[in-house]
Amino acid sequence: MKYSEYSVLILGSGAAGLYAALKISAQINLPDGIALITKSTLDDSNSMQAQGGIVGVLHQNAADNIKLHSEDTLKAGAGLSEPDVVRYISGLSDEVINDLINNCGVDFDKDSSGKLNFTLEAAHSCRRILHVGGDATGKGITNAFIKKVKEDSNITVIENSAAVELLVDSDNECKGIILFNDLTGDHEIVYASAVILATGGLGQLYKYTTNPHGATGDGVALAYEAGAVIQDIEFIQFHPTALALSPENRDRFLISEAVRGEGAKLINSNGKEFMSLYHDRRELAPRDIVTRAIYSEMNKTHSSSVFLNASFIEKSKLFNRFPTISKNCMEKGIDISQNPIPVAPAAHYSMGGIKATVEGRTSIKGLYAIGETASTGLHGANRLASNSLLECVVSAYELSDYLSFTNLIPPKKIDSTIMKIIDVYSRPVNEDFMYNIESLKQQLNEVMWNNAGIIRSEKSLSEARLRVKKFKENFKRNRKCISLAEYEYRNMLITANLIIETALERKESRGAHSRSDYRQTNIEAVHSVLSKNNIKELMYAG
Ligand SMILES: Cc1cc2nc3c(=O)[nH]c(=O)nc-3n(C[C@H](O)[C@H](O)[C@H](O)COP(=O)(O)OP(=O)(O)OC[C@H]3O[C@@H](n4cnc5c(N)ncnc54)[C@H](O)[C@@H]3O)c2cc1C
Repeated sequence: MKYSEYSVLILGSGAAGLYAALKISAQINLPDGIALITKSTLDDSNSMQAQGGIVGVLHQNAADNIKLHSEDTLKAGAGLSEPDVVRYISGLSDEVINDLINNCGVDFDKDSSGKLNFTLEAAHSCRRILHVGGDATGKGITNAFIKKVKEDSNITVIENSAAVELLVDSDNECKGIILFNDLTGDHEIVYASAVILATGGLGQLYKYTTNPHGATGDGVALAYEAGAVIQDIEFIQFHPTALALSPENRDRFLISEAVRGEGAKLINSNGKEFMSLYHDRRELAPRDIVTRAIYSEMNKTHSSSVFLNASFIEKSKLFNRFPTISKNCMEKGIDISQNPIPVAPAAHYSMGGIKATVEGRTSIKGLYAIGETASTGLHGANRLASNSLLECVVSAYELSDYLSFTNLIPPKKIDSTIMKIIDVYSRPVNEDFMYNIESLKQQLNEVMWNNAGIIRSEKSLSEARLRVKKFKENFKRNRKCISLAEYEYRNMLITANLIIETALERKESRGAHSRSDYRQTNIEAVHSVLSKNNIKELMYAG
């Protein structure tokens, strides 16, 4: 098989991957350069879609401080956020945000006097959210990074190519990946001394999601198969307000929390406001509470959505503050200054993932995980709005620092464990089986939405377990596949299984994990931690 070598290999071109590439390139002199690999194009990521903003705990904001932000994060995390991690990430916010402004060209919105404009989002106790272009923060940040990456001669960008297996040797050290080129259908080997997974989320496992098509949980599946420890993967955040034009419409455009932050109200299909029945902070209650409130109102009124009413907010304010949302809704026939917006919950964010330290170290040597695919312990059972972009950039920043003290010479010695993996990908695939992947993905989506979604139970999850087992048995390509779509489906099955197993094991309701048969929250908050060798017998760490 064809092969290449780099000092550092970064998988994923979202905020985490791009910023890691820039920081590593700026900080470390690498003999064999950096490869930034993405399975789609450079600009295709969840990061690009982020709207509301990024948390900035800045010294210049007198209303805010690390303690306050940490308290808000810990409260949202429902006992599972790690206090040290929360304080550490919060404490680095000022330094990293200033790096984005001063060295990366990120142009956060300012008020008329030229000061940074902070906005409010649900469950934040003060205005601390920085944004770009009103509601196009992800685009603003990601495009600034992409511009710099393209100018950087140390970084080789490889598009339309997916990592499909990690090369981990018998000493539990990652030496590279198997890469699948989606345009040619070829497989090749890429060796590196540091492999960084920045592969994002998994919203596409669910029928309704705000995530773009590439969010198929690849990083978690690859790391799990290679033996890495996965943490808290049962905690999936369902965003309360995604545009719900019809039940058939699967890809759901996000109506940012910041719209509620500016005063918009939720009403049910009978035109009644309802949030006061569920929480004293009403529309600004934590996401999981607003999601369940909407879900309950939809069930009570037998409707496929509720409505978000922003019509009483001054039109010019609404359109200036939310240009992306107002334009997108207008294109679909909804003038948000006049009409209530039909909204319903949709899978949005994975709180859990590959267990990693803030600087991305995983349980496998040489393998790092940053951004949404990682579980650092920041988000716990429920993510506080705008903390994820912060985590992406802080982890990338810290990882570059960590790697500057690491020996980054591409591996020369490859053992028989890795040779066996390479052998699998050198052989032809049995092409007797052909699969309609679109239809298979849809069946999996239905099962995950109905059985492992917003409200779960022993019965629903057990059914999901059986259905996913059947899907796995029927899909014969559990290693080498013939298309990116097949690889994504393979990864979705692996990740779905992990969510179902941990959700079954967690016999309580906590944060985003809600069980109709175990409504209580246990006194002791414990992480779910599992790896390939102990899936049957889940280990819980304190
Ligand atoms: C609509 C929307 C709005 C959001 N708004 C906000 C917000 O306002 N504030 C906030 O903090 N968070 C927000 N989030 C969440 C946040 O955007 C994400 O958590 C964050 O951007 C994730 O960044 P990432 O770099 O980890 O992954 P991503 O940005 O998802 O990037 C993942 C990358 O990995 C690539 N990839 C995946 N698998 C492979 C593979 N096998 N091989 C090679 N490449 C691969 C993908 O193609 C992509 O380039 C929002 C999310 C969505 C969907």
